[in-house]
Amino acid sequence: MRTVPRSQWRRLRKVLTLAEIFGSWGCHYCGRELDFWTVTIEHIVPRSYGGPDQLRNSALACEPCNQAMGAALIKCTCPLCAAARRHVADQYGVGRAAGWASPA
Ligand SMILES: [Zn+2]
Ligand SMILES: [Zn+2]
Repeated sequence: MRTVPRSQWRRLRKVLTLAEIFGSWGCHYCGRELDFWTVTIEHIVPRSYGGPDQLRNSALACEPCNQAMGAALIKCTCPLCAAARRHVADQYGVGRAAGWASPA
């Protein structure tokens, strides 16, 4: 196991928190096993759609899935992604038309 350099500690903390939330170190989309050196942090609602750079809008993904998603909207319907979309819609007014917001 390579030592994580100090400059990467912020990222490490994020990754650990997300692994805890999602209950896995695997890619959220394809299930591939990942470690700190291969994992990427993916925005559930892309920045280009107004998604914030927050943990609540993040999931762990492998590089190929992250690349494939790019700026596309992820259609994952799991409760965590649905909650992230609802949070973004409620807090940032993004995606209301798509029905992401909490019912009024
Ligand atoms: Zn993947
Ligand atoms: Zn999901």
